[in-house]
Amino acid sequence: MFYVEDYSDERLKSWCIHCGAAIANVNANRDHVPTKSFLSKRLREAGAAYDRGRGLPDGYLPQVLVCKACNAGFSRDETYVLCVLHAVLAGSLYPDPDTHPEAANVLRSNRDIVRSLKARPDGQMFLFDGLQPFTLYPDPDRVSKVVVKNARGHAYHEIGEPLLEEPSSISFQPLQSMSDDERATFENGGGGGLDLWPEVGSRMMVRILEGVGMAGGWVEVERGHYRYAVDWSAGISVRTVIWDYLATETRWDP
Ligand SMILES: [Zn+2]
Repeated sequence: MFYVEDYSDERLKSWCIHCGAAIANVNANRDHVPTKSFLSKRLREAGAAYDRGRGLPDGYLPQVLVCKACNAGFSRDETYVLCVLHAVLAGSLYPDPDTHPEAANVLRSNRDIVRSLKARPDGQMFLFDGLQPFTLYPDPDRVSKVVVKNARGHAYHEIGEPLLEEPSSISFQPLQSMSDDERATFENGGGGGLDLWPEVGSRMMVRILEGVGMAGGWVEVERGHYRYAVDWSAGISVRTVIWDYLATETRWDP
């Protein structure tokens, strides 16, 4: 992505968007939104080069300043969600390294997560690994934490809005499981209409004025990997699609 300067109100930049700590009083660092491991290795490397001042102009990856404790606190759950995505899309907790090299590598490196994913909601373990269709019961709390982290980050990055309260609702489901109507609503809910402009100087305002980085209300971080849309027309809702597979929506009602 190309970097878009953020001119929104500096007074809003005073707190960690996750715990509300005053940034001036704590150690803080930059957190990537979306979760960096959801992007391809090529894009992650381009982003790291950009951050060191040696990258291409479009190498910027969205990031927000948060307290170090919160930043570090997300990483286990982010790895958990990464494992879930790999397992679901490879159709196995033990994917074949020849056909799914990245999935095999990630799941091999996180044995404890693989073990936890073998438990069903009733606590019973799956007795057979090869059952079809392949079904997982990921921990919704851990998935929610990652969804909300990214949603807060997207809203903050795009419209300069710190959302310190708990969200009114969090949902996620495979895109393919939506009905046609649900899918249409999900895809078209972006933006706020031209009579509802985001804060002057915010990145979203700049995107709207310049027509940069917008595709039907969606900001595409990497095709096939991650896109997000922020809607501020009634409260704030943040929708994301991860790997063209998992659709998420986090809402803060007015
Ligand atoms: Zn914090």
